[in-house]
Formats: sequence, structure tokens, C-alpha cells
Amino acid sequence: MIQKQNTPIIQNYIGGKLQNALSGKTMPTYEPATGDVLTTLPVSDAPDVEAAVQAAQKAFPMWSGLTINERSAYLRRLSQLVEERLDDLAIAETLDNGKPLQVSRTVDIPRAAYNLRFYADAITQFTSESYNTSQNVINFVQHEPIGVVGCISPWNLPLYSFTWKIAPALAAGNCVVGKPSEITPLTAFLFSQICIDAGLPPGVLNIVHGTGAEVGQAINAHPKIRAISFTGSTVTGEKIAQTAAPQFKKLALEMGGKNPTIVFSDCDFERTVNEVARAAFSNQGQICLCGSRIFIEESIYHKFVEALVAKTQTLIPADPLLPGSQQGAVVSKAQYDKVLSYIALAKEEGGRILCGGKPAKVSGRCETGWFIEPTLIDGLSNSCRTNQEEIFGPVATLMPFKDESDVLHLANDVKYGLSASLFTQDISRAHRVAKNIHSGIVWINTWMNRDLRTPFGGIKSSGMGREGGMEALRFFTEPKTICVQI
Ligand code: NAD
Repeated sequence: MIQKQNTPIIQNYIGGKLQNALSGKTMPTYEPATGDVLTTLPVSDAPDVEAAVQAAQKAFPMWSGLTINERSAYLRRLSQLVEERLDDLAIAETLDNGKPLQVSRTVDIPRAAYNLRFYADAITQFTSESYNTSQNVINFVQHEPIGVVGCISPWNLPLYSFTWKIAPALAAGNCVVGKPSEITPLTAFLFSQICIDAGLPPGVLNIVHGTGAEVGQAINAHPKIRAISFTGSTVTGEKIAQTAAPQFKKLALEMGGKNPTIVFSDCDFERTVNEVARAAFSNQGQICLCGSRIFIEESIYHKFVEALVAKTQTLIPADPLLPGSQQGAVVSKAQYDKVLSYIALAKEEGGRILCGGKPAKVSGRCETGWFIEPTLIDGLSNSCRTNQEEIFGPVATLMPFKDESDVLHLANDVKYGLSASLFTQDISRAHRVAKNIHSGIVWINTWMNRDLRTPFGGIKSSGMGREGGMEALRFFTEPKTICVQI
């Protein structure tokens, strides 16, 4: 069983072997719940990425030449081992990220296993078109793997996001150079041990640890990496595009959000209060899909705010390793300082703190951890910085609205367009609003209710391209049209 005191030292996984950065450099990672050093990871750079690309190129003819069933069986085996090691992986995720153990155990790690199993199945159902152009001419399409692809993932859902990318990439026959977040690298490292135990052929998946500026940038720039699937901030997405786009790499960019939650007066009140709180504060508000701008119809504004504040005050930050802990620590000192600076900004902008608004005191071993009270703020205009910039923490704002057209204008008046949730019993209105919201995903009377077969991604500054279902398999392949004259 993984415990804090025996947390392994992280190594790269290149060509089937665990190894240190070629430079020998390392950097610490921290346990957010205590602020203590947890372990170290390699500070890799371009030569390590080069080694990973070479290993991937070497493995590609063999891996892409396997049958669909053979590749599917490897993914299934990886999924099975993730399930078998659920306890260790869940504890590691919580130590590394600060999220409650029950969330790692019931959401993050099961979903990582499911991602692998889902694409083990999906690849067996991936079809392509064929056209009878005339009696003796057939056009058909072959979806060919790209070759070596890059997968860059963030810290908020570490193993969950990482497997969400590598599973379709591998299933489609590519070899991968993966880069997990340097802030939460632990479960990706444990996953590299799982790959070894599963007998995944060397070089098929390579995991290079280090910073975005070094490892990430080397992936962006490497001419042999022909596609990059990235999840992270919009600022980083821009940097990736600046380097990769002139090389005409395929890019899928899943980036930030400032998602609206819209509450109409005819909503199912109690259920909506619970869903709105869940949308705002799950994972300490550190999910790209979190509803951080909450719009409430004027006629129920005061009643709803009162109920939401009461609900939010039950979400008490606690040691994430304790059973029943619902709110953990935010992921890093930098994130902690950033979130608190946005709360200060909200006050300067005229916001009223309805609950929270300050660091949370957690006694015992977590006294020095990075905890923030779930915070609700009102009295701000939609155009202020607090309501326009992604905070990515346990902070949400509340704004009243008059009617449907008013709220549509407010909800869309932001540079992001990832997701939206709306709550109403009026089915016609629900469809009208969903149709007119500018986002890649809309939930009606629910939040983060995911079906992995659906396209996932955002518009505007939230993203480019889609993941999920067959979209990811299309992204990780190149369609080739072949025309036969009989
Ligand atoms: P980040 O952009 O700082 O880092 C994400 C990853 O990119 C990390 O692995 C990082 O090392 C790497 N990186 C940094 N600079 C790079 C560069 N120049 N080139 C290549 N890679 C580089 O994001 P984060 O702080 O880890 O994650 C939080 C952000 O992720 C939030 O903005 C959140 O909304 C977003 N996110 C989006 C989705 C989505 O599906 N749209 C999902 C989860 C998180």
C-alpha cells in the first residue's frame, strides 16, 4: 500500500525502461494538504524528448501492424491493472493533488480504467466510409495512424486526463510521447509501472516528466511528433499553437472555461441547489467544466442565494485522506495564492463575500496545507475581471437576471465557451437556451453527466477540436481516400 513515507521517486518511462532525466536534474513535488515535499521528479528536456521520440518511432511499425484485437487486448489489460491497483493509485492521486480520497477512489481512478476499456472497445467499432462512385469505381477511406503523437495533460484530473488522451492514441495505432503535469506526476509514474507489468511493448508509450517550458516545448517543436492533444490553460494552448501550427501539426486543444450555470425560477429547487453547489465546488472548483458564474432569475434570487450559501457552508475543507472528506486542498501554493488574489480582486471590484472568502483552517497534520473555504460572491457585474477570467478554484459568483434574452447575453458575454448548465422545468425553454448558448457542451437539469461516446470540447478560447468517442479516434488518425477502378 502506498503511504506518504514510501512515495516512490518519479522516473521517466522511455523505450520500456524507467530512467532519470539525462541531465540528472530533479525537482520536488508537494503534498497540497500539508505543503510538505512529497517526492521528486526528473527535470527532463529536449534530449529526453528526443530519446522518447526515437523509441516511439522504433515501436511504430510493430504497434501499428498489430491487429485491432491485439491492441485492444493490451488496453484492456492496462485497464484491468488500473482497477486492481485502485487503492494505491487513489491514495497517490490524493497525496499529489489534494483532492478527497473518496473522489480519487470513486471518480478519478475508475474513470482512468474506464477510459482505457472504452477505447479498447471503441477501436473495434471504428468504421470508415466506402462509396460506389459508378458501377466499376469504388472510393473507400482508410483511417491510418499518424505515427508519433504528443499527449500533454494538466494537474486537475491527473490520471483521468492522461488516459483520456493516450487510450485513443494507442488504440488507433500511434506511439505516444506523453507529458503529465509536473505538479501531479505521481499516478502517471505508477501507470508506467503498470505498462511494464502489462507487457506493453517498449516504446509504444513513453512518459517524459518535467516542466512545460522544457518537455512541453520540446514536444511542440519536435518535427517527428505530428499531432498533439493538449489539455490545460488557454495561455499554454496559445504557446503550443504558436510553435506547432507553423509545422502543420494536428492539434486538439482543450483549454480553460468560465462556465455559466443558469437557474430559472421554475427549477426543481432543492435538486438545483445541490447540483449548482456540486458544479461550483467539485474538486475544489478545479474542473474545467465547473460552473463558476451562477445566474439566477430575479424572482427567486434571494431565496436561492440563501439556500446555496447554506449548502456551501456544509462543504468544509478537511484532510483529504479522511473518509467522508468532501473538500480537499487546492493543488499548489501558486494556485492557492492565485485564488486568494482573485478573492481580493473581487472585493476591490465591489463584490460582497456571502460565504468563505479566506484560507480554511484545518487542524492536525494539515495545518500548513493549501485549503480555501468554498466562496460565493455577489454584487459584481458580468464584465468585471472576476467574472471574465478563469479562477479555477473554490470560488463562484452569483448574478441575478431578468429573462431569457438577458441571461443568454450575459452567459455568452465571455471569451470562453466550454460548457453550460441550465435548470428549468420548461422543456421548450431548455431547448431554446441550449441552442443559443455558445459552448461545446450544455447540461439541462444536471452537471458533468458524461457519456464517453459524445464529442467533448469547447469553442472560442476554450478549445479547438474535440475529444471523446469516435472524435478522438478521428483526431488520432489520418483519413486516406483510395479509389479503385475495377
Ligand atoms: P497548464 O496549461 O499550466 O499546464 C497543462 C500542461 O501543459 C502541463 O503538463 C504543463 O506542464 C504543460 N505545459 C506548460 N507550458 C507548456 C508549453 N509551453 N508547451 C507545452 N506544454 C506546456 O494548465 P494546468 O494549470 O495544468 O491546468 C489547469 C488548466 O487546464 C485550466 O485552465 C483548466 O480549465 C484547463 N483544463 C481544461 C480542460 C478541458 O477539457 N478543456 C480539462 C482540464 C483542465
